[in-house]
Amino acid sequence: VATSGARGDVKSGALEIVTIGTELLLGATLDRNASWLGRELAASGIAVTRRVTVGDNENAIRSAVGDALKRSGAVICTGGLGPTRDDLTKQAVAALLGRELIVHDGWLATIRERFEARGLRMPEVNRVQAEVPQGALLLPNERGTAPGIIVEEGDDVAILLPGVPSEMRWLTARYVLPYLAERGFMRDSPVISRTVRTTGIAESALAERIDDLVAELAPLTLAYLPTGIGEDLRITSWGELPLAEATARLERAMASFTARLAPWVYGTSDDDLATVVGQELRERGLTLAIAESCTGGLIAKRLTDAAGASDFLSSAVVSYSNESKRDLLGVSDETLREHGAVSEAIAREMAQGVRNVTGAMCGLSVTGIAGPGGGTTDKPVGTVWVAAAVADRVEAKLLRLFGDRAEIRERAAQAALAFLRELLRREAA
Ligand code: ATP
Ligand code: MG
Repeated sequence: VATSGARGDVKSGALEIVTIGTELLLGATLDRNASWLGRELAASGIAVTRRVTVGDNENAIRSAVGDALKRSGAVICTGGLGPTRDDLTKQAVAALLGRELIVHDGWLATIRERFEARGLRMPEVNRVQAEVPQGALLLPNERGTAPGIIVEEGDDVAILLPGVPSEMRWLTARYVLPYLAERGFMRDSPVISRTVRTTGIAESALAERIDDLVAELAPLTLAYLPTGIGEDLRITSWGELPLAEATARLERAMASFTARLAPWVYGTSDDDLATVVGQELRERGLTLAIAESCTGGLIAKRLTDAAGASDFLSSAVVSYSNESKRDLLGVSDETLREHGAVSEAIAREMAQGVRNVTGAMCGLSVTGIAGPGGGTTDKPVGTVWVAAAVADRVEAKLLRLFGDRAEIRERAAQAALAFLRELLRREAA
């Protein structure tokens, strides 16, 4: 199959994505096709300018594709190319462009042969999979029976791909990217991003601190990406600058954002705070013991997600009841009676206690109210104390977290790790 048809550059190099499937709207299926396409196209220097999802409805598909073509002149659709009644993408696009659907004899023969090779007769419904809008290019799908389709209309182009992620990805790599390159969609320089990861600072407070840096960032852009346990800052160069300059400016921006936000920055890209803390302990030859109450082992889980945690992790205790705090960690009955299990005094005794009991060099503890019940006026749901024992210091910190039970637990684990890291750094300074 030829993917030629180059007629010079498209309008503006703009490209839109329409993902099709009622299951996407219902949230039953995560739209992995759109995120994969966004990432893959960006890596090839093609910026996606808009993306839309519609259900398996012919009118909705037709208007979404029509709008995209009117606006940008180029659209990639995924989904709805199958043989069943809810697969309507071809019909919608053919009607939009005033084309008939006609059987592609070569593809019909291919599908038939594939069935025969398995000793089966081709079901009649599969015949429609060989239909393409008149004049369209057919992209042979080695992984399934629905081919990809490219329909050109003047300078406009609609690219239709199956919804099955593996088929969509294969067709994109094999045919669509080369086609777009030939049509002049690729910029000289790819779209590249760098990410600074922060935790422990609210988005608004963070934005205030970097306002002046953001102002001088153009043509690079900044996106705030909340992760639930922190805030990522993604700086992107959209391909306007030559690669070397884009890279240099990204690195400079990373350095200035990191310096400005130093107390809250723990890494870049995919760095995980637990891994960062583990690495710090490992490098300094320190060992750690943990006592967790409301986080129920989450901190230990995160520290042991990466192999090799035995280098620094001595023990982790989930100490849920008062008796366990007393018997396992040596927390005093009197402190429990006087202050309650969720208190600064208990957090401190837990951190020190777990260190004493295990002989580890550092101790970390968490005690709090994750909800939904158990809150009081004094100690509402989300009240969490963390404490860390590092060298000869034991320090504690009160967190007032929000969210549901799962979020509070995740945030408490993250904050405890951040607090330990802060103390380790202060100790080293
Ligand atoms: P088929 O030839 O398999 O019928 P199709 O083009 O009709 O292909 P769909 O029926 O829309 O594709 O979807 C096939 C499968 O791919 C389904 O399991 C669907 O949930 C999944 N899928 C469809 N679109 C997406 C998407 N955007 N992201 C992730 N998965 C998707
Ligand atoms: Mg479908």
